[in-house]
Amino acid sequence: MLLLHQTNAMPRKSHPWGAPPWTVDFRPVPRALPDHVDFAIVGGGFTGLSAAAWLCRLAPGQSVLLLESAALGEGASGRTGGLALAETAAGPLPGLGDVLAGYKKILRALRIDSRLALPGVFELGRSAPAKNSPISWSDSGELQVVRIVPGGVIDPGKVLAGLARAAEKTGAQIAERAHVHAIDFSNPLCLQIRHKFRGRIHRKEIRAGQILLATNAFSLELAGLRVAAAPKLTFALATEPLSAAQLKAIGLSSRRPFYSIDLPYLWGRLLDSNGVVFGAGLVPLPASLNALFRNPASGGSHKNASLNLRRFDVRKGEAAVRLRWLEARVRNLHLALHSVRISHRWAGPILFTEGMRPIFHRHPRSKNVIVLAGYNGHGVALSVYLGQWAAQALLARRPLPRW
Ligand SMILES: Cc1cc2nc3c(=O)[nH]c(=O)nc-3n(C[C@H](O)[C@H](O)[C@H](O)COP(=O)(O)OP(=O)(O)OC[C@H]3O[C@@H](n4cnc5c(N)ncnc54)[C@H](O)[C@@H]3O)c2cc1C
Repeated sequence: MLLLHQTNAMPRKSHPWGAPPWTVDFRPVPRALPDHVDFAIVGGGFTGLSAAAWLCRLAPGQSVLLLESAALGEGASGRTGGLALAETAAGPLPGLGDVLAGYKKILRALRIDSRLALPGVFELGRSAPAKNSPISWSDSGELQVVRIVPGGVIDPGKVLAGLARAAEKTGAQIAERAHVHAIDFSNPLCLQIRHKFRGRIHRKEIRAGQILLATNAFSLELAGLRVAAAPKLTFALATEPLSAAQLKAIGLSSRRPFYSIDLPYLWGRLLDSNGVVFGAGLVPLPASLNALFRNPASGGSHKNASLNLRRFDVRKGEAAVRLRWLEARVRNLHLALHSVRISHRWAGPILFTEGMRPIFHRHPRSKNVIVLAGYNGHGVALSVYLGQWAAQALLARRPLPRW
């Protein structure tokens, strides 16, 4: 499906959605797929990987298979900004608990070198600034710090690789290039898969006791989310490393990430290299991708799917306009950024839902299938946190929330 990006095992190919600055230095051991599993997880982002790791920890005797259409992190998780935020995009929901504390605990329990730092996050606004705001940027008005809220940053590549290692080490089988194109909601459930293995496409049916659909902005038909959610593409870029003087001038010496609370939206963070990531802008997921992922069964072969994706290039059309707009905004924020070199430009999918609430429920066609998706651009910590909850729910150790 999507082209592979940064891994240790294969050279990075040019991706039509551009390349983020993160590196996922993990590739699962390629193996033939089994005929039957206790738990099948569809989607190899933060949500699916967290659930796989926790299922193996909590139920060591049970078989867990994670199926990923492309390569791990090819959806939002490898293309994210990596701001670890509290709560949900809709705020604190009933029974949610403390997302950041839970996230920290999970990363520690799974021994993940996440580079998590929680110095707080600047909320920026164009009115009512805090006293002595370190930031003063020109962006449709004067953008200044309004307050500091809990949160921080991670290295998304390290978290993805860490979750995948933890899952594989405790017994999960992870299959890349394994696209689930249909599910037969019978008892037992049956997944229909196209798996690229040893250079060939294999068609396979796998029976599963239970399924977790963690497919986020893709495969909406499969997840029963065609009406309930809207997929969009969003954009980001990274600058070359800035000097200490440049960082001081733009008010980021504290290394706090930031997001605006009014429009036009802008978010960003520092990298370890002292490059700065900035992100903004939304376009609807292009119709060709949408149709394909909403109904992969009618969307043609694996090869066609791949071709469709290759044809969609964020360097062209409306997406290119959005990226150029973002770059112009960044250069105009502050004199110190006027002639900065841009090292990375990329896009990634976000799933928007009603009321900005995550979707976490049983599939309307089977109580043995759970759907977890739709964090509305607020899923870095939440996806891992709820992935653990999904594992507990699959094992009947915890009820699902009523959001
Ligand atoms: C540019 C960008 C910046 C962001 N910044 C932040 C941020 O700073 N902070 C924050 O909290 N959130 C942010 N987000 C949101 C956050 O990254 C996501 O909410 C989170 O990564 C979602 O993880 P996921 O595992 O649910 O989905 P994904 O990572 O999208 O994973 C879903 C996976 O399912 C696979 N898949 C789909 N269909 C199938 C199928 N039929 N068969 C097999 N596999 C399938 C896909 O290939 C994909 O890999 C950002 C998102 C983007 C795009």
